[in-house]
Amino acid sequence: MTLVEKVKNKIRLTQEEGEALYELDLYTLGELADNIRQEKYGKKSYFNINRHINPTNICADICKFCAYSASRKNPNQYTMSHEQILDIVRHSDSIGAKEIHLVSAHNPNDGVEWYMGAFRKIKAEFPHLHVKAMTAAEIDFLTREYGHSYDEILDMMIANGVDSMPGGGAEIFDEEVREYLCKGKVTSAQWLEIHQKWHERGKESNATMLFGHVESRANRIDHILRLRDLQDKTGGFNAFIPLVYQRENNFLKVKNFPSGQEILKTYAIARILLDNIPHIKAYWVTASINLALIAQEFGCDDLDGTIEKESIQSSAGSEGANGMSLEDFIALIKNAGFTPVERDSLYNELKVY
Ligand code: SF4
Repeated sequence: MTLVEKVKNKIRLTQEEGEALYELDLYTLGELADNIRQEKYGKKSYFNINRHINPTNICADICKFCAYSASRKNPNQYTMSHEQILDIVRHSDSIGAKEIHLVSAHNPNDGVEWYMGAFRKIKAEFPHLHVKAMTAAEIDFLTREYGHSYDEILDMMIANGVDSMPGGGAEIFDEEVREYLCKGKVTSAQWLEIHQKWHERGKESNATMLFGHVESRANRIDHILRLRDLQDKTGGFNAFIPLVYQRENNFLKVKNFPSGQEILKTYAIARILLDNIPHIKAYWVTASINLALIAQEFGCDDLDGTIEKESIQSSAGSEGANGMSLEDFIALIKNAGFTPVERDSLYNELKVY
């Protein structure tokens, strides 16, 4: 049976077969991924009305690809007070946000209560908002810094109002590349362990992959298959989000950036290989809105959201710093031939446009 026949017959692919998918031409690959997407969701494209808050950029870790943390290249340190965070949430709630997405650098100055207190206060004032917060990397940092176990931090998150976990900090699981990119940060095994523990508490999360820097295609396939293995055990991942590396203001010397074709192939391959993760998200902030719209025909059924404001990817060159208006977002999806569907954070459909 050929590779294409295997995909059409929904036969699970191995690492070697995943790598071989890259050798298919873009049209064939796109059609295979689009068939899977259409079978699951037809022409629906999901998004949510969310607000990203990045409460501090002071970081104890040093990732070569990062342009966000305060460093020699970005000397402007900041840490928000709880009241500043609440003011942002008040504004976002008043304009219709349904999800507050909090991701921070690893700030060693403020303690676990600074994190937990923020979640608790948001939930107390806005019980209807979904709080998505704490990457596995942040959780690992808090355990290293303050001597808690993963279980203790995860239980604190739940007690203080965190509803689901974002997928950040996964970067690339390959140990050698990871050592080069972000030595000292959460390891691949730890990242997976933390998500497993979160899923075992009946909670859901997302998973990311940062690609387009120094990793190989084989590294990407390995990353995707490690996620597929964990999903077989827990079923707790909602979405896989391949993040395109942003090239400005960081310490990673990358010469060859992925072409649009390579990015689209990677989305399509993720859709084909991840037969057990429901949604593949083209996070438009890293892919560009134009490529994200095309990615809807390459297996992606989710474009994230209106975002309102974003600091991490935009520090490294992304143009998504100020999000996008709901009207523009809907019009772009419609003009691309898809049906915009507003969802909540757990993919329940709220409104079809
Ligand atoms: S990627 Fe995150 S952990 Fe790494 S330096 Fe940047 S803020 Fe810190």
